[in-house]
This record gives sequence, structure tokens and C-alpha cells, in this order.
Amino acid sequence: MTAHMTPDDFRRHGKALIDWIADYYEQIETYPVLSQAAPGSIRAALPEGPPQEGEPFAAMLADVERAILPGITHWQSPNFFAYFPANASFPAILGELLSAGLGVQGMLWQTSPACTELETLVLDWLVGMLGLPEAFLSTGTGGGVIQDTASSAVLAALLAARERATGYSNVESGNDPRLRAYCSTQTHSSASKAAGVMGLGRANLRAIAVDATYAMRPEALRAAVEADLAAGLRPFFVCATVGTTSSTAIDPVRAIGDIAREFGLWLHVDAAMAGTAALCPEFRGLQDGLELADSYAFNPHKWMFTNFDCDCMWVADRAALIRALTILPDYLKNTATASGAVIDYRDWHVQLGRRFRALKLWFVIRHYGVVGLQALVREHVRLAQQFAAWVAADPRFELAAPVPLNLVCFRLREGGDDANRALLERLNASGKLYLTHTVLGGQYTLRLSIGGTLTEERHVQAAWAMIREP
Ligand SMILES: *Cc1c(COP(=O)(O)O)cnc(C)c1O
Repeated sequence: MTAHMTPDDFRRHGKALIDWIADYYEQIETYPVLSQAAPGSIRAALPEGPPQEGEPFAAMLADVERAILPGITHWQSPNFFAYFPANASFPAILGELLSAGLGVQGMLWQTSPACTELETLVLDWLVGMLGLPEAFLSTGTGGGVIQDTASSAVLAALLAARERATGYSNVESGNDPRLRAYCSTQTHSSASKAAGVMGLGRANLRAIAVDATYAMRPEALRAAVEADLAAGLRPFFVCATVGTTSSTAIDPVRAIGDIAREFGLWLHVDAAMAGTAALCPEFRGLQDGLELADSYAFNPHKWMFTNFDCDCMWVADRAALIRALTILPDYLKNTATASGAVIDYRDWHVQLGRRFRALKLWFVIRHYGVVGLQALVREHVRLAQQFAAWVAADPRFELAAPVPLNLVCFRLREGGDDANRALLERLNASGKLYLTHTVLGGQYTLRLSIGGTLTEERHVQAAWAMIREP
């Protein structure tokens, strides 16, 4: 007897699993949003060792319900308001399934031409859909690539920037210790992590001061660059953020871009969550100046209904990125690569192998259409603005930061950090919703992030009612 699952059994179990997932979504509001599992309890509910003989699929599915579900925090719950969304949708889930079913490894064009060409096409579509600069189109000097995460995108941008700044010599000879990069005090920690990983040194990524809205102060950037130049150092990179993680602060991309151009810095724009808003023309003012960027990234896996992981990154000059990352051992040589007529995405990121991620993004865009996506984004922004208005109108609460899009940062006026921490703990212990916190201006602050695929007005109303409970 073969050990493999037969196509007929796969058909049967696959349909059962799809049914299970559909049921899960129908019941999702009945689970506590934040898993109530104690550390170690999930492992303790499972056998310590693997089975010697294969088991039936039904046994696995039963264990998922019995032992795994209690350890799930329900990110797709409409009452999930924590961190940033990692929203999913049925078309994206089907795209993931198809990607797994085809089992393609798309490291080279030749290893599955469709994996590369669909990705390039969909990223060109998105340039138009998001109002991004034409320089990002693959039909010119630029192009887009799907990275796993925004963390990988900022690392790739830093690597390309360093090579461009040093005549493509650091990739062979190691880091020039005079190199300096810039971000703001509110930049996502992935930039600092990347600076460490690449050997730049976290201390050599300077955190520039922000203004009262938590946006980078361009004059402080200029002063830091000029001081470093005067000290004989080599400024080469700046990261601007459209929608910071803490409070969705919007860095002034144009002013930062002008400084980047003046001093020859590579400008990377990180719009991991907020980038999706640019689907709607009325929100594109937030990214004004993007034509000055050398690279840009946003995560459809946050707010654009595409299952994790999916980060879209564009560069204006793909040659710089490819030159920084290309490496061609004999066993990968092939005529398509040698012809220069194809994209080999292995040269656009750190890892070699890659999944067929474009499928799920393509399914999402085709299922909803541009107009459908715009309507969902507008509704999330409307709900957040409404919640912000409720907070502003209640004398017990205050807004802690501007609300440009779909994240509301707020706190109790009285009782300080302890009262706000107690409020958050009460809410999350209820299991009825999940919020997280940040610290703004030294004060403990609650965040209500709206971006769940299933979140509707009634969920936001219920959240506000629970928050207001004395
Ligand atoms: C979430 C976030 C990141 C990190 O995202 P990953 O894709 O998980 O690496 C980076 N930057 C910003 C602004 C973010 O909001």
C-alpha cells in the first residue's frame, strides 16, 4: 500500500477542509479574540512524539479543533483591533491553496515563467492602482517584486543604497565604517534590525527627531546629514514612513526627498500598512513627493485582503538592486538568464527560492476589482474617523495623535498610565475584542486599528460601548 494520499482522498479531505474553514468564518465571532491559552498548554494537549504509523486525516482535523483552536488569536475576527490588521479574504485563501497545489519554486524565470511574469504584471497594475510614480513600472528602468515582508524590503533597499553609494564595492569588500543612514524616532524597528544584519551597525542608522504629529522633522534631517558630512562621514540612505506603526504619522516625503536628492541619499518609503489607502485618490496626498523615492514598499498582507505574507516593493532603478544582490553559480546558469530578456527575481531579495505569491494578489484584485477595494478602504477609514469623533466628544478621553486614516490612538485623561493599562487589560480579558497599546509622548496609549475584512460599524460601536463602561 502506498503511503501517499490518493487524488480521490485529497479531493474528499480538501472539500472537508474548505467546509471547515467556511464554518470557522461563520462562527468566528463566538471565539475569544485573544487566545486565553496559558504558556505550554497547547503542547501539553498534543502527543509528545510523532506517530509511527500514518493517521487518518479526520484525526488531524479533530485535533485542530480540540488542541489548536484554543491557541489561536483570531486575527480575522471583526473584533480584532490590535497592532495592524493582517486581513485575509476567501479569494486570497484560494490563491494560497493554488500556489501550494502547483508547488512552484520561482527563483528564476526559467523555473516557472508564469510565476515571474504574473508577478511583474500585477505589480505594474498596482503602480496605476495606487498612483505610484511611473519610474516604478517594469517597462521603464524600475519594477516591482513581492517580498515576504516590509522588513525584507527595507533590508534590500539598504543593501542597494549602500552599493550605489560605494560604486558597488561594499558587496565584495565589506562595509565602509563611514557610512551613515537616517530614519526617524518613529520608524519601524525593522530598519534598525536591517542595519544590524547588513553590518552597517544599528548605531549608524540615526533616528531623527519628530514634530508634534510624530512626523520626521526635515530640518533635523538636514542638520544631521550636514554634521555627518562635516565629520568626514558618508550619508547614503534615508527611510521615510507613510503611516508609522505606532500612530500612522505621515513623514513629509517631498521635503525628505528634496534633501535626499541634494545629498545623494537613497530614499526608501515605507508605507507598510497605510499604502493601501492610496487605492483611493483622495488619500494620495499623504504620499506626495513619492516620485523622489528610489524604493517604496507596502504590505497587501496588512490592509489589502491578501493573506500573509505579501509585501510589494518597487524600485525606480532596478539595476542598482540587482547589482547589489546578484550572484550566479554555475548550477543556476541558463539560456533565458543569459539572454537578458527575462527577470530573475532571485536577484531582487536576500533568499534564493520563492513562492508563487502573485496568485493570491491577482485573485484578490480580480475578485474585488479596483472599485470594490476602494469601497472597503473608504469604509474602514470612515469607521475610524467616526470612532475618533466619539473619543473627542467624550470628556473622559482624549485623542493622542492625529487620525489620518484607520488607526485611532487614545487614552483616558485621568489616572495616568495605570488607569489606561487597567482599561486595556479589562477589554482584552473579556475576549470580546482585542486592542494593543503604544507609548506616545511618554504616555501609555491605547490603539484601535480598523482594517479587518469582516469589521462593520456594529463592531466598532460595540467596542466603544465596552471602552466607555465605567
Ligand atoms: C508592520 C510594519 C512593518 C513590518 O512589517 P513586516 O511586513 O512584518 O516586516 C514595517 N514598517 C511599518 C511602517 C509597519 O507598519
